[in-house]
Amino acid sequence: MATPHALVIDDSRAMRLILGDLLHQLGYQTFEAGDGQQAITLLEGDANIPELALVDWNMPVMNGLEFIRTVRQKHCYTDMKLLVVTSEAEVGQMVEALSAGADEYLMKPFSSEALACKLEMMGLHRA
Ligand SMILES: [Mg+2]
Repeated sequence: MATPHALVIDDSRAMRLILGDLLHQLGYQTFEAGDGQQAITLLEGDANIPELALVDWNMPVMNGLEFIRTVRQKHCYTDMKLLVVTSEAEVGQMVEALSAGADEYLMKPFSSEALACKLEMMGLHRA
């Protein structure tokens, strides 16, 4: 089976490293973007659409909600699961994220088990 790909979108380099490590442990190959626009640019330049994108909420240039709305308008990304990684203060806005097409959300701080659980709930398998 091919290695699953995940796109980590967060303006915090530390958070990208943490998420990248956890995803590697779960068998994913990852690539990273610092905001939604960078992520769109990456996606448009890559023939391999990732199975999963982890999406931060607050980011400069293009935030998580704008990213979700943009990719959910394009049929080619229908199969890409979107997991919003959010802080407790932003949980009230997750209804908006889910109605815009996010599949799930995960609240920071989280354990590797919590991430693995969410991925299972989204129909993604751990390695
Ligand atoms: Mg952020």
